Amino acid sequence: MERTLLVVKPDGVSRGLVGEILRRFERAGLKIVAAKMVKVTKELAEKHYPGHREDWIKDIGHKTLENYKELEMDAKKLMGTDDPKEIGKMVRVWLLEYITSGPVFAVVLEGPHAVDLVRKISGHTLPSKAPPGTIRGDLSFDSSYLANTGKRAIKNLVHASGSKEEAEYEIPLWFSKEEILAYERAEEKYMK
Ligand code: GDP
Ligand code: MG
Repeated sequence: MERTLLVVKPDGVSRGLVGEILRRFERAGLKIVAAKMVKVTKELAEKHYPGHREDWIKDIGHKTLENYKELEMDAKKLMGTDDPKEIGKMVRVWLLEYITSGPVFAVVLEGPHAVDLVRKISGHTLPSKAPPGTIRGDLSFDSSYLANTGKRAIKNLVHASGSKEEAEYEIPLWFSKEEILAYERAEEKYMK
């Protein structure tokens, strides 16, 4: 049994897609054990996208550079650098702006293999690469070209913890112990 953090980002809330998004996890059997609307503070955003975690910054930088390469865009010309750490830092600033730009809807989802299952239902980070049937594939079309040239984060509707370790770090940032509830879903007896 695992728990994972899922956040409907400001574009999802503003587009009225909270119900549509949650429906997809609920019907897969994932249990909502905590949920709330949040106006994300700068403090929470900075912890959620941890600037001090060099591995995380570099990883985002590498991924962004890969996207530039695929698009045959010159990162150095457009960003002033092709150093993954520096690019990661810039993307992090865009992420902080994005997550604090409007209210979000945060949930904790519980179930067997919850982390991977929620990632699978969410789809690829880049909506243009997310297959139909996934949230990002069905409901968004943003691309790294549009985002990078607009100097903003890719608007891909949801954040989902990337690993068990990430989930364990993120959940307590968003929810207190008291806000996470235990109960049984009716179909649990069939899925044991
Ligand atoms: P996720 O776990 O699938 O959300 O992806 P990551 O953890 O790698 O990236 C975090 C967020 O950064 C993504 O959800 C996007 O909003 C944004 N992002 C990721 N890659 C890029 C990129 O190449 N360019 C831009 N502009 N934003 C990106
Ligand atoms: Mg991630």
